[in-house]
Amino acid sequence: MADKVCSRCGLPSGIGRGNIWHANGVINASMPPYIRGTLYDVEELNSLFPALSERIGFDITRLVVEGKRKDGRRYTDSLRNSLAAMGRDLPPIDIYNLVARFCKYWGLGLAEVLDYREGERLTLRTLKYYSDPMSRGDWAGVFEAVEKRRGEPVWKDEPTREILEVIATEGEPELEERIEQEVELGIPCEDERDLQYIHCPECGVPLEISRQFSWNADEALILEKISGIRFILHNTNGIVAVLRVLREELGEEIDRMVTDISRGYARGYYGLLQEETSLDAELMKFPLRSWGRPAEFAKTGDGFKVTVVNPYAPPIVAGRIWGLLETFSGTELSLSEHVAGENRCDLTLCREG
Ligand SMILES: [Zn+2]
Repeated sequence: MADKVCSRCGLPSGIGRGNIWHANGVINASMPPYIRGTLYDVEELNSLFPALSERIGFDITRLVVEGKRKDGRRYTDSLRNSLAAMGRDLPPIDIYNLVARFCKYWGLGLAEVLDYREGERLTLRTLKYYSDPMSRGDWAGVFEAVEKRRGEPVWKDEPTREILEVIATEGEPELEERIEQEVELGIPCEDERDLQYIHCPECGVPLEISRQFSWNADEALILEKISGIRFILHNTNGIVAVLRVLREELGEEIDRMVTDISRGYARGYYGLLQEETSLDAELMKFPLRSWGRPAEFAKTGDGFKVTVVNPYAPPIVAGRIWGLLETFSGTELSLSEHVAGENRCDLTLCREG
C-alpha cells in the first residue's frame, strides 16, 4: 500500500506529524523525549568513516556499528515508552514492523521481517539501505531494545547483503557501557532563535524542504533535487556518540581529522553546484537540515568569521563551512581559529599566504 502524501507539498504525511522544525536550527521528534534528527548527506556520511579509518590506520567500522546499535536501542526504548504511555503495548513483531515503516519515511531503506524467533533471532530482507555498518547497527539496537538481549547483526547472503540476521549473543560489557554513556549524554542545544519558515498549511513541514528534496517513502528514497544526492532523516545522537567514542579512544586530533575530511567533501560537493546556487542560499539550508543555525557571518579583511549555533556535530559542520567558503570565495583558506563548544562553533578563516 502506498503511503499517504501531503496534497499541498507532496511530502509523506508522516514527516509533518512526526517532526518539528524549530527556529533554532534543530529538528526534533514531535513525541517525547523529542529526540533530535538530522538530514544527513548519505555520501558525506558514508565517506567519512572509511576516510577516517584510512587516516588513522585502524578500521573503525566496529565502533560505528556499536555506536549506532546503542542509538537504535535508545530510540526503540523511547518509542515503546511513548506507546505504553498511550496505552499501547505492542507485541515484538508489531514493533519491528513499525520501525520498518519509519525506516521508509526517513529514507533509511526498505526492510521486511522474514522470520522471527522470540528472544533468539530476527531475519529481515533489507533493500536500498543507506549504509551497511550503520543500518546493521540500527537493527541490532532495535532487536536489543525489544528482546533485552544483545544482537549480532550478520549478513546471511554474502555478497548480495540483502538478508540481515540479528542473532542473540553475549555482549562485551565494557565497550558497550562506555558507548551507552556517550549516547545517553545527548546533545545540548541553545534556544537562540530568529528563523522564520513558511510552513506547509497541510502537513506543517517548512515548504523549503519540499522544494529542496524529492521525498519518496514508498521507495525509502530522499533525493536532494539540486545534486541528486541521497539524504536520510535520522537520529543525530548516533553519529555524535560515535565521534565521542573515537575521540576518547584515539585522541582529540580525531576532531581535526573529521573537519579536514568534511572540508574535502564540501569542496567537491559545492564545486559541482557552484553555478546553480549561492553562498547565502547554501547557508540558509543548514538550519532546515538541523545542521545548526549560522548565527554570525562576517567578511573580514582577509577572510571570514562564522558562528554556527546548535551544530549537529561541530567537527563535521566546521568542515562543511570551511569547504563551502573556499568554494564560493575561490581561494584556499586556513582555519586559524576554531572554538567548538557543545552548542556552538566559532570559526575564523583566513586567506592563505
Ligand atoms: Zn505539506
